[in-house]
Amino acid sequence: MKLVLIGCPGAGKGTQAKMLSKKFDIAHISTGDLLREQMKRGTELGKKVSEIMNSGGLVSDDIVSAMLAERIKEDDCKKGYILDGYPRNVAQAQGLEAITGPLDRVICYDVADDVIVDRMTGRRSCPKCGRMYHTAYNPPKVEGKCDDCGAELIQRKDDNEDTVKNRLKVYHESTAPVIDYYRDKGILMVVNGVGDINDIFNTVASALEV
Ligand code: AMP
Repeated sequence: MKLVLIGCPGAGKGTQAKMLSKKFDIAHISTGDLLREQMKRGTELGKKVSEIMNSGGLVSDDIVSAMLAERIKEDDCKKGYILDGYPRNVAQAQGLEAITGPLDRVICYDVADDVIVDRMTGRRSCPKCGRMYHTAYNPPKVEGKCDDCGAELIQRKDDNEDTVKNRLKVYHESTAPVIDYYRDKGILMVVNGVGDINDIFNTVASALEV
């Protein structure tokens, strides 16, 4: 099964992708995570993209599509995968099926902008196991520490208010048109992304099981 998750930054794509990946035993590919990994390792590519990522802009299509094409060759993608954060514009969407073959479903998580800034500025994650938290809505048991592995939680550099606002602007200008692109193809499912995380997951999982 090949899925694409769309939604503005902070819509919950990462959390939902992890849950879907476990349920359907398919890989979770976050292009943002792949790029952050390059930055962490200090590679040439990482250095090249760091400024643009920290400001909330989009990395060039060539770089991201080449990275994605490499990633899906790995063994864990044989049964399928969930793309989280790709495509981010219509050009990427138009080129995607040449890389992946036909997609099964595109899921769009719908969340209003005013909910997003609040969600994202409180977002924290575990650098070791990837578990996500929110300082107000989903805090860890011990402040600043991961419940599962005890690692010190971190805040993404691009989760500050100014960058979040820019990322929302970029989303509306470049990524939102991708929704219509997939609606026209007849594979789009729009889900309300506000509410209980498990309810949102169950709605999508049952639709995919049919
Ligand atoms: P994300 O973790 O999906 O929010 O992505 C973080 C940042 O990585 C974005 O703000 C972009 O700078 C970059 N990025 C991730 N995916 C893409 C993509 N498909 N195209 C261009 N830039 C991307």
